[in-house]
Amino acid sequence: MKKRSAFSLALMLATAPLGAQQSAFHISNYNLTLDLPETGKTIEGKAELTVVRKARADTLVLDLLDLKVKSVLLGGRPATFTQDAEHIRIPMVGARGDTLAVVVEYAGAVTDGLIIGTDSAGRWMAFGDNWPNRARHWIPSIDHPSDKATVTFNVRAPSVLKVVANGTLLEETKIPLAADPDGSFGRGVQRTLTRWRESHPIPVYLFTIAAAPLVRYDLAASACGFARDGKCVSQMVYTAPEQAASMPANFKYSPDIMDFFTHLVAPFPYEKLAHLQSSTRFGGMENSSAIFYADGGFRKGGTAAGTIAHETAHQWFGDAVTEREWGHLWLSEGFATYFEEFWTRHAFGDSAFKAEMVRTRAQILRDPVVASRPVIDTTQTDLMKLLDANSYQKGGWTLHMLRTLVGDTAFFRGIRDYYAAHVDGNALTDDLMHAIENRSGVKLGWFFDQWLRRPGFASLTTSWRYDAATHRVVLDVEQGARFAPYRLTLSADVTDAAGAVHRVHVEIPAEKSARVTFPLDLAAPPRGITFDPDVELLAEIHGK
Ligand SMILES: [Zn+2]
Repeated sequence: MKKRSAFSLALMLATAPLGAQQSAFHISNYNLTLDLPETGKTIEGKAELTVVRKARADTLVLDLLDLKVKSVLLGGRPATFTQDAEHIRIPMVGARGDTLAVVVEYAGAVTDGLIIGTDSAGRWMAFGDNWPNRARHWIPSIDHPSDKATVTFNVRAPSVLKVVANGTLLEETKIPLAADPDGSFGRGVQRTLTRWRESHPIPVYLFTIAAAPLVRYDLAASACGFARDGKCVSQMVYTAPEQAASMPANFKYSPDIMDFFTHLVAPFPYEKLAHLQSSTRFGGMENSSAIFYADGGFRKGGTAAGTIAHETAHQWFGDAVTEREWGHLWLSEGFATYFEEFWTRHAFGDSAFKAEMVRTRAQILRDPVVASRPVIDTTQTDLMKLLDANSYQKGGWTLHMLRTLVGDTAFFRGIRDYYAAHVDGNALTDDLMHAIENRSGVKLGWFFDQWLRRPGFASLTTSWRYDAATHRVVLDVEQGARFAPYRLTLSADVTDAAGAVHRVHVEIPAEKSARVTFPLDLAAPPRGITFDPDVELLAEIHGK
């Protein structure tokens, strides 16, 4: 996702409870039927869950807040259950088999997760906004990123609303009033049943629906031959009706963004990609195959091209390959950040890419969270606080340095291997490390440890002199005491006495001070030396 602003982030720093996180049960499919009202926030729901028992356990625990469970069926028979403020507990004693059909009927006023409100014209609308663990406010679920599932949404809503969700549209059928005498809870309003099916497993935090007066615009077909079914990827934009004449101009880039990532990584993982104007609290939210963008960006006509690229990159990284634990969120946000920058380079050139790397490095160097916590932050229980410069910018920069270290060929082959091994599943940081190690032949434990498992960045003070006897430049590098020393490759452009520029690379050991000699024969002292000319090192460099 893209953060919207420091202000709105500050509003949502409520401590988030962790999910039921049970390992004994896995939900492989959700068949969700929702009745949405014409006004107000009361919904009715039926969750038909395919539950897989993975280990001996007596009780299935589902996450559900606020809404009241009316009944539970287990294998088609009424089952006992208990409900407290956060969970439904369903005794599984006597249930036979390893795959269990569980049906939960529930209802109530939704307070979060499904954001119900009215737009500026007073029209009722609802948008799912589940990250990180708010799906449990409207869907009985195992609400943890490690428990991925396919999902069908069957939504009955007033026909003035357009319903969009993950996956493929299965059905859009007006419900005869005669068959629905209480239509829209008794007001006799015409309603429509809309059904969508996501046939690839996704985490619950990416489940979503939109139910609002939306108008659809189709974008040019893209990535032909590189959709998962071998056809083209369909992309479309849904906006409020009054935005009809002023759809954000940057969606003109969406076909190119899709082409670029499919060729760089793998076929697009889902059935279509919709871009929606929404009421997400985030600047953009990467729901699988249905990206939600903040309403304000649409109204100002200014959804940034970078935001579109970032959320599109998430479809592969975060959505199709999902972090198994929240502490590894950089596998989602760091990838989206860096692949957005890759697209920037592709679309706007190398100088634009470098400018982005300079900008994000500056953000990292001045951010107190980078100095105090590691990127892989397994002790942070306030999940909203993981949306920080570590997960985004430093995660992206770690990929940048990894690519520099092993080279483009090994890097992209390793990334594709990592993706192929975990698509529709989960991964941890070591899975990425092993994939890059296999392709590069380089042991990378030290690299991942120093950049991801401890706080900080490199702080170098350089001083050099020309040795007339050997015709060499001798460089002294001091690493500041603020963080432990880093092992790194330092590149430099040496301008010789005649004005010619020579690129050199020297290996700096993880020591407080080091002396290295440049592999360059110079007949006279150089005019000057520029360190890290290609913006490849997450370091502050002070020269003397
Ligand atoms: Zn993101």
